[in-house]
Order: sequence, then structure tokens, then C-alpha cells
Amino acid sequence: MPYIHDTPRESQSPPTSLSAASSPTYEKQEPSAETLRRNLHHESDVLIVGAGILGTALAITIARAPHNRSVTLLEKALKEPDRIVGELLQPGGVSALKELGLEQCLEEIDSIKVEGYEVIYYGQGVEIAYPANAGKVAGKDSNGSQTKEGRPQGRSFHHGRFIRRLREVALQEENITVVESTVTDVVKCGYTGNILGVNCLTQGEKDVWFGQLTVLADGYASKFRREYIPRPVVSKSRFWGLELIDVELPRPLHGHVILGDGAPVLLYQIGTRETRALVDVPEGLESASSKNGGVKGHLRQVVLPSLPDCIKPSFERALEEGKLRSMPNSFLPPSVNRFPGMIMLGDAMNMRHPLTGGGMTVAFNDVVLLKELLNPEIVPDLGNSKVILKQMERFHWKRKNLTSVINILAQALYSLFAANGTSLNSSLNPVTNKGCRPPT
Ligand SMILES: Cc1cc2nc3c(=O)[nH]c(=O)nc-3n(C[C@H](O)[C@H](O)[C@H](O)COP(=O)(O)OP(=O)(O)OC[C@H]3O[C@@H](n4cnc5c(N)ncnc54)[C@H](O)[C@@H]3O)c2cc1C
Repeated sequence: MPYIHDTPRESQSPPTSLSAASSPTYEKQEPSAETLRRNLHHESDVLIVGAGILGTALAITIARAPHNRSVTLLEKALKEPDRIVGELLQPGGVSALKELGLEQCLEEIDSIKVEGYEVIYYGQGVEIAYPANAGKVAGKDSNGSQTKEGRPQGRSFHHGRFIRRLREVALQEENITVVESTVTDVVKCGYTGNILGVNCLTQGEKDVWFGQLTVLADGYASKFRREYIPRPVVSKSRFWGLELIDVELPRPLHGHVILGDGAPVLLYQIGTRETRALVDVPEGLESASSKNGGVKGHLRQVVLPSLPDCIKPSFERALEEGKLRSMPNSFLPPSVNRFPGMIMLGDAMNMRHPLTGGGMTVAFNDVVLLKELLNPEIVPDLGNSKVILKQMERFHWKRKNLTSVINILAQALYSLFAANGTSLNSSLNPVTNKGCRPPT
């Protein structure tokens, strides 16, 4: 491995590198050899780019027994994120989080229990409770999201608060160093082409970090995807998000899907007083064109009248207050990781329409699988890229059991729910037979 000369982090001010060994709790202890290797020589067993949902959970998992790997986690912004993504964790994600020993991250963030969905079709609702097996974890028999009363449960929350809790746990781990740094490109070996680490900017200064294995988990707008994944990302609509205050949902403790003439609207409580509204706006929608007042015009003239009466006042208030944000709804099928020294995971490698809120469940279940596949008994040396790539091929096929169901369901339900007119009415007959009827 390359050797880097550097100044010890402790001598820099303000610190950009955070590790348990340098936090006040550990101040009196001598830093371990591995901490020095990370902080002084910028070298670790595993280098992870992106302290988001996947990157943070993976860092914690492989820093802990039986892995006990030395981990560097690079993140461009350690400030609590304020985003409209990743706010409802399905029961399968709750179970995976428990499997990883991270369930405490759902506490002390004012999270809300989710028992299922309420689908409202032209004003008439039908409850779809989570089925008994909704909390199954990838490759396991466990059903950890089940409550004492036997029903699986999901959780919804402010994304930023959940990420903060995950990062707090990472910072407690002695085997992890967290660094606020923006990664710019990968470092490759000139002879073998193997990826050795990354170049980055730390507080505006050029910096470099190395790992036996580099994990790229830099999310939906991945900087590296174009070079390593041959497929294009397909995005045909955006979710526009509003935060509603003190709204009374038709069925509390449930996610709501509102269907009518337009594309679907999602509603779920993310805190005691706050409810997220996500409105799907397909590309080129006439009612959202600038001559019709843009997206705001569409929300006011088309979406607002279609909402249940109990939601209208707070939706209108949020619209007037104007904190409207959007994210692309993307689709990217998974690819096998084939690059020696590096693996790409999370949204960087695989995305589905967020209608069904499956992204975090996929990410945590992927970490559950990697916990098993990268076990030191199978992969004693993370620098052995031949073995890693073999395990990554196994990962690709093993994750299909759960992930392909989530991916296909998300795309299929979106195609169905975003359809309009007669095609939607005839497709929804099975739903309407459950008590949710189209207008006569
Ligand atoms: C509108 C919308 C709503 C959604 N709602 C849900 C939901 O309710 N439930 C659900 O399960 N899923 C939802 N998802 C999907 C979910 O948010 C993602 O699947 C999940 O966040 C993916 O995790 P990740 O770790 O791959 O990426 P992220 O969580 O986005 O993490 C990527 C991290 O990388 C960092 N980063 C990026 N570039 C760099 C760089 N160059 N250097 C250093 N760091 C970098 C970022 O700052 C970020 O912290 C939604 C998605 C969208 C678009």
C-alpha cells in the first residue's frame, strides 16, 4: 500500500477528521496503531465515500465484530441534511436495521409508527395493512419489525434526524474515522488499473485517502457512475415536496396514496406535527407548464381540489409559505461490480421509483448481505480483489430475492398509478373490488 506523509490531524484547527480516538471520551487513551494508520497515513482496510444511508450503515457493520476492519468514511457535508428523501422506512428496513444492531437510530428522533397504507381513489379509501411477512430480512428467517401484537411496523421520520443518529453511532466506533471531504476522483494503480483510493478536497485543500477496498456510496447523483456503470439513469418525473403542519390524516399511522386524474400524491407523517406531501409531476405535464403557472399552478389548480377535505387547508398553507422542493424520480437497474479494488453500492448502483419507499430497505438489506459475504473467514484479505469480485457476483444474485421484488413493484405500481382515464379504472378493478370504487 502507498505510504503518505501527513500532519497528524490533532495538530490541525479546526479538525476535519472525527474519530472516536480523537473525541473527548477517548482523549486520555493512546491512539491505536490502526487509528494512527488512518489519521496519519490516510490508509485503512475500507474507504467509504458517502456517509448517507448505505455508507454509514456499512461502515459501522464492518468496523464491528466479527469484521473489526479499520474504516475511513468520507462525507462532503456532515451537517444534518435537510432533504425530502428517505423518510419512510418499510418493515423490511426496520428488521434489517435491527439485524445490524442499529435500531436505536429510530429512537429520540420523534419517529412515527407506520402500520400500512391507505389508498384513496377518487375520494374513497381502502386500508392495506402490512402483511404478516412484511418484515422479512434478506437471506434470513427473522421478522424483526414485528410488534408484540404480531403486526409488522415501519417508521417514518425526518431524514436528516435519522442520518444524524446513524452518524453519531459511527462516531462512537473506535475503528472508524469520519472526515468531511468532497471526493473528486478515484486513484488507480498505473500498472494494474486497480482502484487504490480517492482524491478529494478537504476544507478546499487537495487530499488523498487509500483503502484496500474502496466503496462508492455517493447517492443518486453519483459522480462516478458514468465511468463504471454502462446504463443510463431514466427519470420521467419528479417528486415535489411540501411539509404540512398539524394535518389530521384520514387514517393515522398509515402512509397515504391519493389517486385521481393526475399522477399520485403521497402523504405520511414524519414528526408529531409534520406530514410530508410528495406530489409526482411527470415531465412535460401541460398543467405544470409556465403558461399555467408552473408546478405551483399545477399544485393549486389540479392537486389541491383532488385532496381529502381534511388535508386541503394545511396543503394550501404550505403552498403559500412556498418551501417547495423537488427531486428526480429515477430508475437504474442493478449491475454486477467488476472493478478490482472498488465496489459501488446504494443509489449510485441501483434505483427505483420512490413511490413505494423502498430505497432505504434495499440499502440496509444490502448491508445485511455484505456483512455475511465479506466476513473475514471468507475474505481474510480485502486487498484480494479476485475473491472480492467473486463475492460481489454472489451479492448480485443473492440480493435479487428481496431487491428485485421491491424494484419491480415500485416501477409497476408507478406505471399503474400514474396511468389515467379508462386504463387506470380498468387496471384498478382488483383494488376497487376491495372497497375503493371509481366514480360512476
Ligand atoms: C423523492 C424521494 C423520496 C424518497 N423517499 C424514500 C422513502 O420514504 N423511503 C425509502 O426507503 N427510500 C426513499 N427514497 C430513496 C432513498 O432516499 C435512497 O434510496 C437512499 O437514501 C439511498 O442511500 P445512499 O446511501 O445510496 O445515498 P444517500 O443517502 O443519498 O447518501 C449519499 C451520501 O454521499 C454523499 N456524497 C455525495 N457525493 C459525495 C462526494 N463527492 N464526496 C463525499 N460525499 C459525497 C452525500 O452527501 C450523501 O450523504 C426516496 C428517494 C427520492 C428521490
